[in-house]
Amino acid sequence: MNTPPVIPYGRQSIDDDDAAAVLKALRSDFLTTGPVVQEFERTLAEVCDAKHAVAVANGTAALHVAMLAAGIGSGARVITSPNTFLASANAAEFVGATADFADIDDQTYNLNPTALAATWRPDTRAVVAVDFAGQTCDLPAIAALARERGAVVIEDAAHALGSTFAHEGQRYRVGGHPWADLTTLSFHPVKTITTGEGGAILTNDDHLAARCREFRSHGMVRQPDQPHSPAADWGTGPWYYEMAELGFNYRITDIQCALGLTQLARLDRFIARRAEIVAAYNATFAHLPHVTLPRAAPGAQPAWHLYVLQLDFDGLGTSRTACMDALRRRGIGTQVHYIPVHLQPYYVRKYGYTVGKCPLAEAYYRHCLSLPLYPAMSDADVARVINAVTEFVHAP
Ligand SMILES: *Cc1c(COP(=O)(O)O)cnc(C)c1O
Repeated sequence: MNTPPVIPYGRQSIDDDDAAAVLKALRSDFLTTGPVVQEFERTLAEVCDAKHAVAVANGTAALHVAMLAAGIGSGARVITSPNTFLASANAAEFVGATADFADIDDQTYNLNPTALAATWRPDTRAVVAVDFAGQTCDLPAIAALARERGAVVIEDAAHALGSTFAHEGQRYRVGGHPWADLTTLSFHPVKTITTGEGGAILTNDDHLAARCREFRSHGMVRQPDQPHSPAADWGTGPWYYEMAELGFNYRITDIQCALGLTQLARLDRFIARRAEIVAAYNATFAHLPHVTLPRAAPGAQPAWHLYVLQLDFDGLGTSRTACMDALRRRGIGTQVHYIPVHLQPYYVRKYGYTVGKCPLAEAYYRHCLSLPLYPAMSDADVARVINAVTEFVHAP
């Protein structure tokens, strides 16, 4: 018997426009650092209501560059959510800072500002505020705390391109609000739009944007206004560049940015289709026992990246492994987002973080399951997921 193809938990949506744009860039004069990168940055900034967008090789590079641009280094503590991908914390370690973790809110699964305040130490210099599953975290509260104490806010919006939230009667977009100093995005194939691999930093600060551009490309500044190298004594000119800071090669190609542009053109449709699927899931799963639906905070309009259920596996008399196996046998891929990052062996070994440091993130982890969610899912795919989950919950 043929088994049906597995519906993954996430995947890209690529059409003929994407393919044509990539081919055109491939045949153009510039494969990297060319006009398509600039056009993608301009369009991305506009779509996000941000003053600047700096496109880079991937979302992890975006976080690393954001740390460097913000001047975070050794001796600094950086607090993030344990309910995130490794990179949100690792970026602090890349620059020699200490990654620390504050517990989540049990409704939104995002960093809890009260827990953040309790975890704060005098050496805390940055918060990496992760917008989990596409829902923005409580940015005004996080920024109020961070700014009062002289720390920067780096919003890890890898899940949240196109998400909006309301604050005091006004609506704000990710990238277009005053509570993050730097916002990072990822364009990995499972994210809202893709460039294959790719990422970006958004900021409204001219100086930070210039620093991001430097760190993206070796720390180089071409024809600086005020040269500092002794070599400048022999004259400067069109060839002249200087490196005052140690940067990296985190550039993205024109080929990737061509894809990014055609993907951005469909962002609203992608978000709308994701919302439709979430609504269909919620309508059915709301009636299931031992199941908790994802919850949007008042005023939040998440561009849902993940659809995460909390399942009381004990109450159902089963385990997560059995559930994932049963769904896979029916052609449905699932995932677990996320293993609490403070419990990763690297962090346990380096800082002695233990179970109990972030109890809500730990409890959340033990019950979470991400179901398939991506715009290319057909209605039949959605129905297959709904039926399989419903049947499993009724007869595990
Ligand atoms: C995907 C992701 C990243 C890293 O992005 P890459 O493009 O894979 O490097 C960082 N943070 C979060 C929350 C992510 O989901």
